[in-house]
Amino acid sequence: MADLGHAVAATDELPEPARFFAPDMFAGDVAVVTGGGTGLGLELSRSLAALGATVVIASRSAEHHGVFLEEAGQRGWNAHALELDVREPDLVHAAAREVLERHGKVDVLVNNAAGNFVCPAEKMSPRAWRAVLGIVLDGTFYCSRSFGKPMIAAGSGRILNVVATYAWTGMPGVAHSASAKAGVWALTKTLAAEWAPHGIRVNAIAPGPFESDGARANLWPDEETAERIRKKIPLGRFATREEVARHALYLLSPASDYLTGETLVVDGGLTLAAGRMWEPGAELERPRRKRS
Ligand code: NAP
Repeated sequence: MADLGHAVAATDELPEPARFFAPDMFAGDVAVVTGGGTGLGLELSRSLAALGATVVIASRSAEHHGVFLEEAGQRGWNAHALELDVREPDLVHAAAREVLERHGKVDVLVNNAAGNFVCPAEKMSPRAWRAVLGIVLDGTFYCSRSFGKPMIAAGSGRILNVVATYAWTGMPGVAHSASAKAGVWALTKTLAAEWAPHGIRVNAIAPGPFESDGARANLWPDEETAERIRKKIPLGRFATREEVARHALYLLSPASDYLTGETLVVDGGLTLAAGRMWEPGAELERPRRKRS
């Protein structure tokens, strides 16, 4: 079962990210979160539900839905889970129909589901390439299309795509994921422009490294690797899932009503590090010329 990263709080306590927002911020909204049973998706689903939304989490494994459904039951949140592989357009279409039949509308879609693992490009099999592209790029398009249609019919909606900064910086070892996220980044801007006349906002969030079972297993399997990455981050630590979720909530909230086609980088300054010539904290005094 997925690691929540903390014990479930007393039932009257809001999840940490939700405490920054009005308690009824998402009241009446129906939100669909792909990969909503683990990691960032779980954290975001908890906060959306705590702030009043009906939350539908969608991913392949029913086992991954247990933590959220159990907490939802304890706290009286409106929530349910769909078993869904976002790579399959017909299944995505059927899932959208089910949500519409059950809840009558869709206000929010979070394209969070992803797969990733480190592999040198020359050793990456076509199957591995397709698997990641299928979940991240195809899945985001299929979900946006199927859940976007009722938003178009309603004349309003909010879509949030989860990308990564290597979509534009590139990163050795993740040719599949970087290419897929770059596609999602372009899709974000394209759909934002195309669907703005329908009252739909489409934005993206680009987190730096944060702890999740998936990321730890696939990207920093040991503490030494984690520490090496940590040292590159100007703020000196990984983000927490709660911190990333807070920014995601802002992008879905009315506080960002005039924002569309934008990608919010939440990486503790990691991408800034690429262009720096000195380590953070280095003496930055102007070198004195020696007098002869
Ligand atoms: P995670 O816990 O590994 O979650 C990935 C989720 O995707 C799982 O819930 C999984 O559920 C779902 N999923 C995978 N394949 C699917 C499919 N074919 N259909 C439907 N759902 C599928 O990941 P995370 O670390 O929280 O990452 C969340 C998002 O943040 C991802 O988009 C990731 O790329 C992005 N991100 C993460 C980091 C990081 O450091 N963690 C950094 C930058 C960006 P099932 O197994 O049940 O299908």
